[in-house]
Amino acid sequence: MLTIQNFINGDFVDPISDEWIDNYCPANGFVYGKIPDSNKNDVQNAYLAASKAFSTWSKTTLEERSNILLKISELLEANLEHFAKAESKDNGKPVKLAASIDIPRAASNFRFFAHAITQFSSESHDSIGFNATNYTLRQPLGVVGCISPWNLPLYLFTWKIAPAIAAGNCVVAKPSEITPVTAYLLGDICNAAGLPKGVLNIIHGKGESTGQAIIEHPEIKAISFTGGTSTGAHIARTAAPMFKKLSLELGGKNPNIIFADCDYDDMLNTTVRSSFSNQGQICLCGSRIYVEAKIYEQFKTDFIAKVKALKVGPPNLDDTDIGALVSKPHMEKVLQYINIAKQENGTVLCGGNQVKPENHEQGYYLEPTVIEVSSNLCRVNQEEIFGPVVTVMSFETETEALQLANAVKYGLSATLWTNNLKRCMRFSQELQTGIVWVNTWMIRDLRTPFGGAKASGVGREGGFEALRFFTEPKNVCIKY
Ligand code: NDP
Repeated sequence: MLTIQNFINGDFVDPISDEWIDNYCPANGFVYGKIPDSNKNDVQNAYLAASKAFSTWSKTTLEERSNILLKISELLEANLEHFAKAESKDNGKPVKLAASIDIPRAASNFRFFAHAITQFSSESHDSIGFNATNYTLRQPLGVVGCISPWNLPLYLFTWKIAPAIAAGNCVVAKPSEITPVTAYLLGDICNAAGLPKGVLNIIHGKGESTGQAIIEHPEIKAISFTGGTSTGAHIARTAAPMFKKLSLELGGKNPNIIFADCDYDDMLNTTVRSSFSNQGQICLCGSRIYVEAKIYEQFKTDFIAKVKALKVGPPNLDDTDIGALVSKPHMEKVLQYINIAKQENGTVLCGGNQVKPENHEQGYYLEPTVIEVSSNLCRVNQEEIFGPVVTVMSFETETEALQLANAVKYGLSATLWTNNLKRCMRFSQELQTGIVWVNTWMIRDLRTPFGGAKASGVGREGGFEALRFFTEPKNVCIKY
Protein backbone atom coordinates (compact mmCIF):
# COMPACT_ATOMS: atom_id res chain seq x y z
CA MET A 1 0.00 0.00 0.00
CA LEU A 2 1.29 3.41 -0.97
CA THR A 3 0.64 6.00 1.73
CA ILE A 4 0.60 9.52 0.42
CA GLN A 5 1.24 12.44 2.72
CA ASN A 6 0.75 16.16 2.55
CA PHE A 7 3.80 18.25 1.64
CA ILE A 8 3.94 21.25 3.98
CA ASN A 9 6.95 23.47 4.56
CA GLY A 10 9.17 20.95 2.76
CA ASP A 11 8.12 18.07 5.04
CA PHE A 12 5.85 15.11 4.40
CA VAL A 13 3.14 14.98 7.07
CA ASP A 14 0.00 13.00 7.86
CA PRO A 15 -3.37 14.76 7.90
CA ILE A 16 -4.16 16.26 11.33
CA SER A 17 -7.42 14.28 11.56
CA ASP A 18 -5.64 11.02 10.67
CA GLU A 19 -8.46 10.38 8.20
CA TRP A 20 -7.67 8.80 4.84
CA ILE A 21 -9.23 8.10 1.45
CA ASP A 22 -8.70 4.93 -0.60
CA ASN A 23 -6.81 5.30 -3.86
CA TYR A 24 -7.88 2.94 -6.67
CA CYS A 25 -5.89 1.56 -9.58
CA PRO A 26 -8.10 2.00 -12.68
CA ALA A 27 -6.36 -0.85 -14.53
CA ASN A 28 -7.62 -3.51 -12.11
CA GLY A 29 -10.10 -1.76 -9.82
CA PHE A 30 -8.13 -2.55 -6.65
CA VAL A 31 -7.24 -0.16 -3.83
CA TYR A 32 -3.48 0.29 -3.86
CA GLY A 33 -2.92 3.25 -1.62
CA LYS A 34 -4.40 5.80 0.71
CA ILE A 35 -4.32 9.56 0.64
CA PRO A 36 -4.93 12.19 3.32
CA ASP A 37 -8.50 13.36 3.77
CA SER A 38 -7.24 16.82 4.67
CA ASN A 39 -9.41 19.44 6.33
CA LYS A 40 -9.20 23.19 6.78
CA ASN A 41 -6.60 22.83 9.56
CA ASP A 42 -4.18 21.16 7.13
CA VAL A 43 -4.90 23.91 4.60
CA GLN A 44 -4.25 26.51 7.28
CA ASN A 45 -0.87 24.93 8.08
CA ALA A 46 -0.02 24.97 4.40
CA TYR A 47 -1.09 28.60 4.18
CA LEU A 48 1.06 29.56 7.18
CA ALA A 49 4.11 27.86 5.66
CA ALA A 50 3.51 29.58 2.32
CA SER A 51 2.93 32.93 3.93
CA LYS A 52 6.18 32.66 5.93
CA ALA A 53 8.15 31.68 2.82
CA PHE A 54 6.71 34.52 0.74
CA SER A 55 8.75 37.37 2.23
CA THR A 56 11.99 35.68 1.15
CA TRP A 57 10.89 33.94 -2.04
CA SER A 58 9.33 37.06 -3.53
CA LYS A 59 12.69 38.81 -3.18
CA THR A 60 14.91 36.12 -4.68
CA THR A 61 16.58 37.16 -7.90
CA LEU A 62 15.06 36.00 -11.15
CA GLU A 63 18.21 34.04 -11.86
CA GLU A 64 17.90 32.12 -8.58
CA ARG A 65 14.26 31.29 -9.20
CA SER A 66 14.96 30.36 -12.79
CA ASN A 67 17.81 28.03 -11.79
CA ILE A 68 15.62 26.19 -9.27
CA LEU A 69 12.83 25.75 -11.81
CA LEU A 70 15.34 24.42 -14.34
CA LYS A 71 16.64 21.98 -11.76
CA ILE A 72 13.10 20.71 -11.07
CA SER A 73 12.64 20.24 -14.82
CA GLU A 74 15.91 18.30 -15.12
CA LEU A 75 15.06 16.05 -12.17
CA LEU A 76 11.64 15.28 -13.65
CA GLU A 77 13.32 14.27 -16.89
CA ALA A 78 15.88 12.17 -15.04
CA ASN A 79 13.03 10.33 -13.28
CA LEU A 80 10.78 10.15 -16.34
CA GLU A 81 10.21 6.42 -16.29
CA HIS A 82 9.35 6.30 -12.61
CA PHE A 83 6.90 9.20 -12.96
CA ALA A 84 5.35 7.79 -16.16
CA LYS A 85 4.67 4.42 -14.54
CA ALA A 86 3.22 6.09 -11.46
CA GLU A 87 0.98 8.34 -13.58
CA SER A 88 -0.24 5.40 -15.62
CA LYS A 89 -1.00 3.28 -12.55
CA ASP A 90 -2.89 6.12 -10.89
CA ASN A 91 -4.83 7.35 -13.92
CA GLY A 92 -5.22 4.31 -16.19
CA LYS A 93 -3.56 5.98 -19.21
CA PRO A 94 -1.06 3.94 -21.26
CA VAL A 95 2.48 4.17 -19.87
CA LYS A 96 3.70 5.11 -23.34
CA LEU A 97 1.38 8.13 -23.34
CA ALA A 98 2.50 9.24 -19.88
CA ALA A 99 6.14 8.78 -20.94
CA SER A 100 5.77 10.67 -24.23
CA ILE A 101 3.30 13.42 -23.25
CA ASP A 102 2.44 13.89 -19.58
CA ILE A 103 5.81 13.79 -17.86
CA PRO A 104 7.86 15.49 -20.62
CA ARG A 105 5.27 18.27 -20.64
CA ALA A 106 5.44 18.62 -16.85
CA ALA A 107 9.21 19.06 -17.21
CA SER A 108 8.65 21.55 -20.07
CA ASN A 109 6.27 23.58 -17.91
CA PHE A 110 9.05 24.24 -15.39
CA ARG A 111 11.66 24.83 -18.09
CA PHE A 112 9.40 27.18 -20.02
CA PHE A 113 8.56 29.38 -17.03
CA ALA A 114 12.18 29.29 -15.84
CA HIS A 115 13.00 31.10 -19.09
CA ALA A 116 9.80 33.15 -19.40
CA ILE A 117 10.29 34.87 -16.04
CA THR A 118 13.69 36.16 -17.14
CA GLN A 119 12.03 37.79 -20.18
CA PHE A 120 8.94 39.15 -18.41
CA SER A 121 8.90 42.93 -18.40
CA SER A 122 6.44 45.74 -17.88
CA GLU A 123 5.44 48.91 -19.65
CA SER A 124 6.30 52.53 -19.02
CA HIS A 125 4.28 55.50 -20.23
CA ASP A 126 5.76 58.94 -20.59
CA SER A 127 3.06 61.50 -19.72
CA ILE A 128 4.12 64.21 -22.14
CA GLY A 129 3.14 67.70 -21.03
CA PHE A 130 2.89 66.70 -17.35
CA ASN A 131 6.62 66.23 -16.77
CA ALA A 132 5.79 62.81 -15.46
CA THR A 133 6.63 59.22 -16.24
CA ASN A 134 4.57 56.17 -15.36
CA TYR A 135 5.87 52.69 -15.05
CA THR A 136 4.16 49.46 -14.07
CA LEU A 137 5.38 47.23 -11.30
CA ARG A 138 4.31 43.59 -11.60
CA GLN A 139 4.42 42.24 -8.09
CA PRO A 140 3.68 38.70 -6.93
CA LEU A 141 0.29 38.32 -5.27
CA GLY A 142 1.31 36.45 -2.14
CA VAL A 143 -0.12 33.00 -1.38
CA VAL A 144 -2.13 31.57 -4.27
CA GLY A 145 -4.22 28.40 -4.68
CA CYS A 146 -3.80 25.96 -7.57
CA ILE A 147 -6.41 23.22 -8.08
CA SER A 148 -6.16 20.69 -10.92
CA PRO A 149 -8.13 17.75 -12.35
CA TRP A 150 -7.39 14.06 -12.88
CA ASN A 151 -7.11 13.76 -16.67
CA LEU A 152 -3.56 15.08 -17.13
CA PRO A 153 -2.52 15.03 -13.50
CA LEU A 154 1.09 16.24 -13.31
CA TYR A 155 0.89 18.05 -16.66
CA LEU A 156 -1.89 20.39 -15.49
CA PHE A 157 -0.74 20.60 -11.86
CA THR A 158 2.67 21.94 -12.94
CA TRP A 159 1.14 24.17 -15.64
CA LYS A 160 -0.21 26.27 -12.75
CA ILE A 161 2.51 25.85 -10.14
CA ALA A 162 5.44 26.71 -12.42
CA PRO A 163 4.25 30.22 -13.41
CA ALA A 164 2.97 30.90 -9.89
CA ILE A 165 6.33 30.30 -8.22
CA ALA A 166 8.31 31.76 -11.13
CA ALA A 167 6.45 35.03 -10.56
CA GLY A 168 7.46 35.00 -6.87
CA ASN A 169 4.29 33.65 -5.26
CA CYS A 170 4.02 30.83 -2.74
CA VAL A 171 1.49 28.13 -3.40
CA VAL A 172 -1.08 25.94 -1.69
CA ALA A 173 -1.93 23.32 -4.31
CA LYS A 174 -4.40 20.45 -4.50
CA PRO A 175 -4.32 17.72 -7.13
CA SER A 176 -7.43 15.66 -7.79
CA GLU A 177 -8.09 13.11 -5.05
CA ILE A 178 -8.48 10.53 -7.84
CA THR A 179 -4.90 11.02 -9.15
CA PRO A 180 -2.69 12.26 -6.29
CA VAL A 181 0.48 10.21 -6.78
CA THR A 182 2.69 12.23 -9.14
CA ALA A 183 1.88 15.45 -7.24
CA TYR A 184 3.06 13.63 -4.11
CA LEU A 185 6.28 12.54 -5.85
CA LEU A 186 6.91 16.13 -6.96
CA GLY A 187 7.57 17.13 -3.34
CA ASP A 188 10.79 15.15 -3.23
CA ILE A 189 11.92 16.63 -6.53
CA CYS A 190 11.31 20.16 -5.25
CA ASN A 191 13.37 19.48 -2.13
CA ALA A 192 16.18 17.94 -4.19
CA ALA A 193 16.14 20.97 -6.52
CA GLY A 194 16.57 23.32 -3.56
CA LEU A 195 13.15 24.95 -3.66
CA PRO A 196 12.99 26.74 -0.30
CA LYS A 197 10.64 25.28 2.29
CA GLY A 198 7.08 26.55 2.12
CA VAL A 199 7.22 27.92 -1.43
CA LEU A 200 5.12 24.98 -2.64
CA ASN A 201 2.73 23.13 -0.34
CA ILE A 202 0.69 20.21 -1.63
CA ILE A 203 -2.47 19.21 0.20
CA HIS A 204 -4.44 16.08 -0.66
CA GLY A 205 -8.11 15.47 -0.13
CA LYS A 206 -11.60 15.89 -1.47
CA GLY A 207 -12.70 18.82 -3.55
CA GLU A 208 -15.69 19.58 -1.37
CA SER A 209 -13.59 19.85 1.83
CA THR A 210 -9.86 20.37 1.06
CA GLY A 211 -10.52 22.27 -2.17
CA GLN A 212 -13.30 24.22 -0.53
CA ALA A 213 -10.97 25.27 2.33
CA ILE A 214 -8.51 26.65 -0.24
CA ILE A 215 -11.05 28.62 -2.26
CA GLU A 216 -12.65 30.19 0.83
CA HIS A 217 -9.41 30.92 2.69
CA PRO A 218 -9.54 34.66 3.36
CA GLU A 219 -5.81 35.22 2.74
CA ILE A 220 -5.33 33.19 -0.42
CA LYS A 221 -5.21 35.87 -3.08
CA ALA A 222 -5.91 34.00 -6.29
CA ILE A 223 -7.29 30.69 -7.46
CA SER A 224 -6.08 29.03 -10.63
CA PHE A 225 -8.50 26.19 -11.32
CA THR A 226 -8.87 23.59 -14.05
CA GLY A 227 -11.83 21.25 -13.89
CA GLY A 228 -15.52 20.93 -14.63
CA THR A 229 -17.78 23.85 -15.52
CA SER A 230 -20.14 23.38 -12.56
CA THR A 231 -17.19 23.26 -10.10
CA GLY A 232 -15.82 26.39 -11.78
CA ALA A 233 -19.16 28.17 -11.29
CA HIS A 234 -19.16 27.15 -7.63
CA ILE A 235 -15.61 28.45 -7.19
CA ALA A 236 -16.56 31.74 -8.82
CA ARG A 237 -19.60 32.10 -6.52
CA THR A 238 -17.39 31.50 -3.47
CA ALA A 239 -14.20 33.34 -4.38
CA ALA A 240 -15.39 36.28 -6.49
CA PRO A 241 -17.17 38.07 -3.59
CA MET A 242 -13.87 37.79 -1.67
CA PHE A 243 -12.22 39.63 -4.62
CA LYS A 244 -9.78 36.84 -5.35
CA LYS A 245 -8.25 36.78 -8.80
CA LEU A 246 -9.68 33.83 -10.72
CA SER A 247 -8.48 31.81 -13.67
CA LEU A 248 -11.01 29.13 -14.61
CA GLU A 249 -10.18 26.53 -17.27
CA LEU A 250 -13.35 24.48 -17.65
CA GLY A 251 -15.12 21.87 -19.75
CA GLY A 252 -15.40 21.58 -23.50
CA LYS A 253 -17.52 20.03 -26.25
CA ASN A 254 -15.24 20.71 -29.14
CA PRO A 255 -16.26 20.55 -32.79
CA ASN A 256 -14.09 18.85 -35.42
CA ILE A 257 -15.26 20.24 -38.77
CA ILE A 258 -14.16 18.34 -41.86
CA PHE A 259 -14.49 19.66 -45.41
CA ALA A 260 -14.12 17.51 -48.51
CA ASP A 261 -11.12 19.55 -49.72
CA CYS A 262 -8.91 18.57 -46.76
CA ASP A 263 -5.81 16.34 -46.84
CA TYR A 264 -7.85 13.24 -46.21
CA ASP A 265 -5.28 10.81 -44.77
CA ASP A 266 -3.79 13.37 -42.44
CA MET A 267 -7.30 14.35 -41.31
CA LEU A 268 -8.28 10.73 -40.72
CA ASN A 269 -5.23 9.81 -38.63
CA THR A 270 -5.39 13.02 -36.61
CA THR A 271 -9.13 12.62 -36.04
CA VAL A 272 -8.56 9.20 -34.49
CA ARG A 273 -6.09 10.85 -32.10
CA SER A 274 -8.20 13.91 -31.37
CA SER A 275 -11.16 11.65 -30.59
CA PHE A 276 -9.59 8.99 -28.39
CA SER A 277 -6.21 10.08 -26.99
CA ASN A 278 -6.07 9.56 -23.24
CA GLN A 279 -9.35 7.58 -23.52
CA GLY A 280 -11.02 10.77 -24.80
CA GLN A 281 -10.36 12.40 -21.43
CA ILE A 282 -8.69 15.57 -22.70
CA CYS A 283 -10.61 18.81 -22.49
CA LEU A 284 -9.39 19.54 -26.05
CA CYS A 285 -10.59 16.29 -27.65
CA GLY A 286 -12.85 16.87 -30.64
CA SER A 287 -16.00 15.09 -29.51
CA ARG A 288 -18.43 16.39 -32.16
CA ILE A 289 -17.36 15.46 -35.67
CA TYR A 290 -19.12 17.27 -38.53
CA VAL A 291 -18.32 16.02 -42.04
CA GLU A 292 -19.23 17.59 -45.38
CA ALA A 293 -21.97 15.45 -46.96
CA LYS A 294 -20.05 14.58 -50.12
CA ILE A 295 -17.41 12.62 -48.16
CA TYR A 296 -19.57 11.59 -45.21
CA GLU A 297 -20.13 7.91 -46.13
CA GLN A 298 -16.48 7.44 -47.10
CA PHE A 299 -15.37 9.06 -43.84
CA LYS A 300 -17.61 6.82 -41.74
CA THR A 301 -16.25 3.66 -43.39
CA ASP A 302 -12.59 4.67 -43.06
CA PHE A 303 -12.88 6.19 -39.59
CA ILE A 304 -14.70 3.21 -38.11
CA ALA A 305 -12.16 0.80 -39.56
CA LYS A 306 -9.38 2.73 -37.82
CA VAL A 307 -11.27 3.03 -34.54
CA LYS A 308 -12.00 -0.70 -34.49
CA ALA A 309 -8.26 -1.34 -34.88
CA LEU A 310 -7.44 0.52 -31.65
CA LYS A 311 -6.42 -1.88 -28.94
CA VAL A 312 -8.09 -1.48 -25.56
CA GLY A 313 -6.08 -3.03 -22.75
CA PRO A 314 -3.99 -2.73 -19.61
CA PRO A 315 -2.04 0.53 -19.60
CA ASN A 316 1.32 -1.11 -18.93
CA LEU A 317 1.32 -3.07 -22.22
CA ASP A 318 3.25 -1.56 -25.13
CA ASP A 319 0.57 -2.30 -27.70
CA THR A 320 -2.28 -0.70 -25.73
CA ASP A 321 -3.81 2.30 -27.47
CA ILE A 322 -6.72 2.87 -25.08
CA GLY A 323 -6.14 2.25 -21.39
CA ALA A 324 -8.59 2.36 -18.50
CA LEU A 325 -10.91 5.23 -17.68
CA VAL A 326 -9.99 7.04 -14.50
CA SER A 327 -12.63 5.68 -12.11
CA LYS A 328 -15.65 3.43 -11.85
CA PRO A 329 -18.14 6.29 -11.39
CA HIS A 330 -16.67 8.00 -14.44
CA MET A 331 -16.93 4.83 -16.54
CA GLU A 332 -20.54 4.46 -15.45
CA LYS A 333 -21.25 8.06 -16.38
CA VAL A 334 -19.85 7.49 -19.89
CA LEU A 335 -21.88 4.27 -20.29
CA GLN A 336 -24.97 6.19 -19.23
CA TYR A 337 -24.37 8.70 -22.04
CA ILE A 338 -24.15 5.85 -24.55
CA ASN A 339 -27.60 4.74 -23.36
CA ILE A 340 -28.93 8.26 -23.57
CA ALA A 341 -27.68 8.42 -27.17
CA LYS A 342 -29.63 5.25 -28.02
CA GLN A 343 -32.77 6.60 -26.36
CA GLU A 344 -32.41 9.75 -28.46
CA ASN A 345 -32.27 7.69 -31.67
CA GLY A 346 -28.52 7.83 -32.07
CA THR A 347 -26.92 4.90 -33.90
CA VAL A 348 -23.86 3.29 -32.32
CA LEU A 349 -21.59 2.72 -35.34
CA CYS A 350 -18.90 1.00 -33.31
CA GLY A 351 -18.03 0.34 -29.67
CA GLY A 352 -20.47 1.10 -26.89
CA ASN A 353 -19.47 -1.67 -24.50
CA GLN A 354 -17.35 -2.31 -21.47
CA VAL A 355 -14.16 -4.35 -22.06
CA LYS A 356 -12.80 -6.85 -19.53
CA PRO A 357 -9.18 -7.70 -20.39
CA GLU A 358 -7.83 -10.95 -18.98
CA ASN A 359 -6.69 -10.61 -15.35
CA HIS A 360 -8.05 -7.05 -15.34
CA GLU A 361 -11.76 -7.84 -15.24
CA GLN A 362 -12.45 -5.28 -12.51
CA GLY A 363 -10.72 -2.46 -14.42
CA TYR A 364 -12.58 0.46 -16.03
CA TYR A 365 -12.26 -0.21 -19.76
CA LEU A 366 -14.57 0.93 -22.55
CA GLU A 367 -14.51 0.39 -26.30
CA PRO A 368 -13.88 3.55 -28.32
CA THR A 369 -17.37 4.52 -29.42
CA VAL A 370 -18.70 6.36 -32.46
CA ILE A 371 -22.32 7.45 -32.48
CA GLU A 372 -24.17 8.83 -35.49
CA VAL A 373 -26.65 11.52 -34.53
CA SER A 374 -29.22 13.34 -36.62
CA SER A 375 -29.80 16.36 -34.39
CA ASN A 376 -27.31 18.72 -32.85
CA LEU A 377 -29.71 19.26 -29.97
CA CYS A 378 -29.38 15.73 -28.57
CA ARG A 379 -27.74 15.53 -25.16
CA VAL A 380 -24.67 13.66 -26.43
CA ASN A 381 -23.96 16.61 -28.72
CA GLN A 382 -24.61 19.25 -26.09
CA GLU A 383 -23.14 17.83 -22.86
CA GLU A 384 -19.53 17.02 -22.07
CA ILE A 385 -19.00 13.24 -21.82
CA PHE A 386 -15.21 13.34 -21.35
CA GLY A 387 -14.62 9.74 -22.39
CA PRO A 388 -13.95 7.62 -25.50
CA VAL A 389 -17.17 8.67 -27.24
CA VAL A 390 -17.56 10.86 -30.31
CA THR A 391 -20.57 11.74 -32.42
CA VAL A 392 -20.68 12.14 -36.19
CA MET A 393 -23.12 13.99 -38.42
CA SER A 394 -23.02 15.48 -41.88
CA PHE A 395 -23.51 19.03 -43.15
CA GLU A 396 -24.15 20.54 -46.57
CA THR A 397 -22.91 24.12 -46.42
CA GLU A 398 -20.29 26.22 -44.71
CA THR A 399 -22.98 28.28 -42.98
CA GLU A 400 -24.58 25.15 -41.59
CA ALA A 401 -21.23 23.81 -40.35
CA LEU A 402 -20.45 27.03 -38.52
CA GLN A 403 -23.89 27.18 -36.98
CA LEU A 404 -23.59 23.57 -35.74
CA ALA A 405 -20.09 24.16 -34.34
CA ASN A 406 -21.13 27.22 -32.35
CA ALA A 407 -24.50 25.92 -31.09
CA VAL A 408 -23.32 24.63 -27.70
CA LYS A 409 -22.75 26.37 -24.39
CA TYR A 410 -19.02 25.52 -24.41
CA GLY A 411 -16.23 27.30 -26.29
CA LEU A 412 -12.86 25.74 -25.58
CA SER A 413 -11.35 24.63 -28.89
CA ALA A 414 -12.28 23.77 -32.47
CA THR A 415 -10.55 21.90 -35.25
CA LEU A 416 -11.09 22.72 -38.92
CA TRP A 417 -9.98 20.61 -41.88
CA THR A 418 -9.87 22.45 -45.20
CA ASN A 419 -7.41 23.64 -47.83
CA ASN A 420 -9.53 26.65 -48.70
CA LEU A 421 -7.67 29.63 -47.28
CA LYS A 422 -10.62 32.02 -47.36
CA ARG A 423 -12.83 29.53 -45.56
CA CYS A 424 -10.09 28.99 -43.01
CA MET A 425 -9.92 32.73 -42.35
CA ARG A 426 -13.72 33.04 -42.10
CA PHE A 427 -13.99 30.17 -39.63
CA SER A 428 -11.10 31.41 -37.51
CA GLN A 429 -12.96 34.70 -37.13
CA GLU A 430 -16.38 33.21 -36.45
CA LEU A 431 -15.75 30.16 -34.27
CA GLN A 432 -16.70 30.98 -30.67
CA THR A 433 -13.75 29.22 -29.03
CA GLY A 434 -10.51 30.12 -27.30
CA ILE A 435 -8.42 27.94 -29.62
CA VAL A 436 -8.78 27.11 -33.32
CA TRP A 437 -6.64 24.41 -34.90
CA VAL A 438 -6.57 24.34 -38.70
CA ASN A 439 -5.42 21.10 -40.36
CA THR A 440 -3.94 19.88 -37.09
CA TRP A 441 -4.77 19.16 -33.47
CA MET A 442 -2.97 19.67 -30.18
CA ILE A 443 0.15 21.47 -31.35
CA ARG A 444 0.87 23.36 -28.15
CA ASP A 445 3.30 26.28 -28.12
CA LEU A 446 3.56 27.26 -24.46
CA ARG A 447 3.84 30.96 -25.34
CA THR A 448 0.29 31.11 -26.71
CA PRO A 449 -2.77 32.17 -24.68
CA PHE A 450 -4.62 29.06 -23.55
CA GLY A 451 -8.23 28.99 -22.39
CA GLY A 452 -11.86 28.93 -23.32
CA ALA A 453 -14.80 31.15 -24.19
CA LYS A 454 -18.43 30.85 -23.02
CA ALA A 455 -18.91 28.08 -20.39
CA SER A 456 -15.36 26.83 -20.99
CA GLY A 457 -13.85 29.37 -18.68
CA VAL A 458 -12.57 32.79 -17.80
CA GLY A 459 -9.01 34.00 -18.25
CA ARG A 460 -6.03 32.62 -20.11
CA GLU A 461 -3.04 30.55 -19.10
CA GLY A 462 0.24 30.14 -20.94
CA GLY A 463 3.20 32.41 -21.65
CA PHE A 464 3.09 35.91 -20.27
CA GLU A 465 -0.68 35.61 -19.74
CA ALA A 466 0.03 33.25 -16.84
CA LEU A 467 2.70 35.55 -15.41
CA ARG A 468 0.28 38.47 -15.69
CA PHE A 469 -2.36 36.45 -13.84
CA PHE A 470 0.02 35.65 -11.01
CA THR A 471 1.15 39.27 -10.55
CA GLU A 472 -0.56 42.47 -9.52
CA PRO A 473 0.13 45.42 -11.81
CA LYS A 474 0.84 48.64 -9.92
CA ASN A 475 1.16 51.94 -11.71
CA VAL A 476 3.82 54.29 -10.37
CA CYS A 477 3.68 57.90 -11.58
CA ILE A 478 6.74 60.10 -10.98
CA LYS A 479 6.73 63.81 -11.68
CA TYR A 480 10.05 65.38 -12.48
P1 NDP B 1 -13.78 18.61 -11.13
O1 NDP B 1 -14.35 19.95 -11.37
O2 NDP B 1 -14.64 17.59 -10.49
O3 NDP B 1 -12.48 18.69 -10.21
C1 NDP B 1 -11.36 19.47 -10.53
C2 NDP B 1 -10.59 19.76 -9.26
O4 NDP B 1 -11.40 20.58 -8.40
C3 NDP B 1 -10.26 18.51 -8.45
O5 NDP B 1 -9.02 18.68 -7.81
C4 NDP B 1 -11.38 18.48 -7.45
O6 NDP B 1 -11.07 17.74 -6.33
C5 NDP B 1 -11.52 19.97 -7.14
N1 NDP B 1 -12.78 20.39 -6.54
C6 NDP B 1 -13.99 19.79 -6.60
N2 NDP B 1 -14.90 20.49 -5.87
C7 NDP B 1 -14.25 21.57 -5.36
C8 NDP B 1 -14.63 22.66 -4.52
N3 NDP B 1 -15.87 22.80 -4.02
N4 NDP B 1 -13.70 23.58 -4.21
C9 NDP B 1 -12.44 23.47 -4.68
N5 NDP B 1 -12.01 22.45 -5.45
C10 NDP B 1 -12.91 21.51 -5.79
O7 NDP B 1 -13.21 18.12 -12.52
P2 NDP B 1 -12.60 16.71 -12.87
O8 NDP B 1 -11.46 16.42 -11.95
O9 NDP B 1 -13.72 15.74 -12.98
O10 NDP B 1 -11.96 17.00 -14.30
C11 NDP B 1 -12.64 16.90 -15.48
C12 NDP B 1 -13.08 18.25 -15.97
O11 NDP B 1 -11.97 19.10 -16.13
C13 NDP B 1 -13.74 18.18 -17.33
O12 NDP B 1 -14.90 18.97 -17.33
C14 NDP B 1 -12.70 18.78 -18.26
O13 NDP B 1 -13.22 19.35 -19.42
C15 NDP B 1 -12.07 19.78 -17.38
N6 NDP B 1 -10.76 20.15 -17.90
C16 NDP B 1 -10.58 21.38 -18.45
C17 NDP B 1 -9.37 21.73 -19.01
C18 NDP B 1 -9.13 23.10 -19.58
O14 NDP B 1 -7.97 23.46 -19.74
N7 NDP B 1 -10.14 23.88 -19.88
C19 NDP B 1 -8.25 20.78 -19.06
C20 NDP B 1 -8.55 19.52 -18.44
C21 NDP B 1 -9.77 19.22 -17.89
P3 NDP B 1 -11.49 16.18 -6.26
O15 NDP B 1 -11.01 15.52 -7.48
O16 NDP B 1 -10.78 15.74 -5.06
O17 NDP B 1 -12.98 16.17 -6.13
